[in-house]
Formats: sequence, structure tokens, C-alpha cells
Amino acid sequence: MYTLYSDNSIVTTFTSSGRHRRYLETAKRVAEESEFPDYRHGALLVRGGSILNSAYNKNSHIGWANRFRAKACGHATHHAELGAILGVDRSKTAGADVYVVRIGRAGDLKMSKPCQMCQSVLAHMGVKRVYYSIDEKNIGCIKL
Ligand SMILES: [Zn+2]
Repeated sequence: MYTLYSDNSIVTTFTSSGRHRRYLETAKRVAEESEFPDYRHGALLVRGGSILNSAYNKNSHIGWANRFRAKACGHATHHAELGAILGVDRSKTAGADVYVVRIGRAGDLKMSKPCQMCQSVLAHMGVKRVYYSIDEKNIGCIKL
């Protein structure tokens, strides 16, 4: 069973039969594709019960994301959340949810709260909520 947190208060708990669980499991499989041993992220763009896109983090840069990133943080690398909305029309991202997970070496869920850059980009694209892994038992939610 997962516990879902939003703004540090428990919102709901859900079991393995829930839709969240299904999306988190899918995001986990996407994360397995990542080349980073310790920071394997997978993200899904979900709207109206359908998965519209998926992505994992890559060791490349996304030029347009730089405008959402603090200069001191260097280049905007290809975060999974950005990959999930890359090339998708705003008419599809608006009102959608993003699920993002990070898996450790053992495939266990780790903290994957989106960074400030990704939150800004997702909000700009009209994404409503981001669900992210905290650990094996807990999921966080940010309303953008
Ligand atoms: Zn990010």
C-alpha cells in the first residue's frame, strides 16, 4: 500500500489495484532504460486515463529548458519530466498529470521530487499535478 502526500499532509492511501500504482509501475519500467546507475528516472504524461508519452533521463541537454533554469545550475540536462512533454502539443499537456519515479540500483523507489526547472516547465505547459516517488511506500503530489 502506498501513502500519498500532498503539501506534507496525508491525502489518501491506495493499494496495488489503484490507477496510481499502475502508472508508477509503468514509470518504473521506463526508468529502467536510463543509463545512469544511481539516478534512473522515468516519467509518464497521463491525461484522461491514457498514457500520452513517456521518457527517461538522458545525458544530453535541452536548450529551450535553459530559460526556466537558474543560471548557477548550469545546463538543463534531459530530465525525465521534460522528456515526457517534449514535442507534445500544449493542447495535450494542459490539464494532464505527470508521474515521475526514481529507482535505485536494486530497482527500489527513491525520492524523485521534480526540480524547480521541471516544475516551472510543467506549469508553463499547463500540467495540473505531478505525482512522484518518495520511497517504496510513499508517493508525493504537487499541484502546479
Ligand atoms: Zn528536473
